[in-house]
Amino acid sequence: MPRALVIGGGVAGPAAALLLARDGWDVHVHEAHAEPDPYAGLFLNVATNGLAVLELLGLRERLLSDGHRAGRMVMWSRTGKELGAVPNGPAREPERGSVIVRRSWLHQVIREGAQAAGIATTYGSRLVSIDQDAHGVRATFADGTVAEGDLLVGADGIGSPTRHHIDPSAPEPRYSGLLGVGGFARVPGLAPTPETQHFVFGARSFFGYLVRTDGTAYWFANVTAPDRGATLTVDDLRALHSDDPYPVPQILAATTDELRPYPIDDLVGVRRWSRGRVVAVGDAVHATSPSAGQGASLALEDAAVLARLLREHDSLTDAFAAYQAARQPRTEAVVRYARAIDGQKRVTTSRLGVAIRDAMMPLFLRRAAADTRNDWLYNHTVG
Ligand SMILES: Cc1cc2nc3c(=O)[nH]c(=O)nc-3n(C[C@H](O)[C@H](O)[C@H](O)COP(=O)(O)OP(=O)(O)OC[C@H]3O[C@@H](n4cnc5c(N)ncnc54)[C@H](O)[C@@H]3O)c2cc1C
Repeated sequence: MPRALVIGGGVAGPAAALLLARDGWDVHVHEAHAEPDPYAGLFLNVATNGLAVLELLGLRERLLSDGHRAGRMVMWSRTGKELGAVPNGPAREPERGSVIVRRSWLHQVIREGAQAAGIATTYGSRLVSIDQDAHGVRATFADGTVAEGDLLVGADGIGSPTRHHIDPSAPEPRYSGLLGVGGFARVPGLAPTPETQHFVFGARSFFGYLVRTDGTAYWFANVTAPDRGATLTVDDLRALHSDDPYPVPQILAATTDELRPYPIDDLVGVRRWSRGRVVAVGDAVHATSPSAGQGASLALEDAAVLARLLREHDSLTDAFAAYQAARQPRTEAVVRYARAIDGQKRVTTSRLGVAIRDAMMPLFLRRAAADTRNDWLYNHTVG
């Protein structure tokens, strides 16, 4: 039985492991964290296309059992005026809309799927180097242990050591000029937002929220910050949003968890996605800002396409070439799409700029509910 080493136990790693195991690979996942991370980046959008891959994995219903369906995104101005609504899924098909879940729940569902299939995962196993030759590939970990295989799949995220093994001159992530931060809160009397997520172009920062049926608000803010290392406290955030409409200040007032802001980076232009027996998937080779709501879904798509092409081709070289050719145009188009949205989120301090945006956006959004131009994001199939 050929042996595959999968580096990274986030989204793409366990998904790839599950699919490879189905095809007869003996798979072992190595994850750097000592144990599953319950915080794991708050919450995220699993888009229609990502749900399709979870269906393939037999995990879609499990994920949906603790998700917030959000097929509609409603935009608001800083004064509380509704600017319009955009489908979060294929146009005119709200029943196929995307879903918001805690990131830790997505990890748990995929991880449990891999465990149920008998796939071994070693935690606290941080890859530090890779060697390969005609006979196999060897991964060396920070604790000195070594694992050997016929194939290594690097699903090790945006800071991927696998990417650097494949091409030491590979580009680095680029900072978007936005800090991401978010949390959970309960505001007395705040009504649930079924099927919907709301976005507020605040006076000094961009804010998004939804309220689950149990009354828990999931919220995030994207704060314009030229300095990637800028600090941000909850008091800073409350001040930034103090002039924004209900329920933004109320959600922040009710937030008691410690904030963990992170710089929003993205990554494009990685010329080589594989070398010899080593291939990379997900954020390791293309990372999009959260603005597209597609990071996890693209990672899932990568896993599915790679597994299919390994099945269809006799050599790793051919499979990897077909994989990069199939995936790079789409994933980089999504990164560019997200960059355009990031541009709208960066707060302009010019009154004229705000007035123009608030006047133009309803015109752009008027027909958005029926606009099929974004269907390419959601209707993608992995073959
Ligand atoms: C803090 C944060 C918040 C995010 N929020 C959102 C969001 O709100 N919405 C959204 O759409 N997307 C969000 N994303 C992006 C989204 O989570 C990713 O696009 C998606 O998870 C990509 O999946 P992946 O499997 O490629 O990488 P990841 O999910 O990042 O998984 C990579 C895994 O590899 C492990 N790893 C790293 N280095 C090593 C090593 N040397 N050895 C072994 N293991 C290693 C990591 O610990 C991690 O578990 C966020 C990302 C981060 C980092």
